[in-house]
Amino acid sequence: MSLRSSYNRKAGRPKPESVPSAEEVARDVRRMKYEQKPAFNYRALSLEMHGMICAKCAREFDETNKRELTVHHIDGNDANNPTDGSNWENLCIHCHEDAHSRGR
Ligand SMILES: [Zn+2]
Ligand SMILES: [Zn+2]
Repeated sequence: MSLRSSYNRKAGRPKPESVPSAEEVARDVRRMKYEQKPAFNYRALSLEMHGMICAKCAREFDETNKRELTVHHIDGNDANNPTDGSNWENLCIHCHEDAHSRGR
């Protein structure tokens, strides 16, 4: 009749929601994979490799305005990020816009 005995009775029976289903596990794995992807900061890497300078107009950037320097994917595929930097080009926002509006 005490609180303790009713607590024990509850604990003896696992609540359905406390057991992760296969579906829930799969969803967690998918989410982990998804969260891993953007963790790779290719922009910072590219700026480090190629320097904070626009590859087209040679405008130089520093900490105060580097947000205007963007990373362009040379093959147009932003999922293609070889870590040797071969698919990246640092472009200022103007040259970057230009590169995309021109088409290829
Ligand atoms: Zn530029
Ligand atoms: Zn681009």
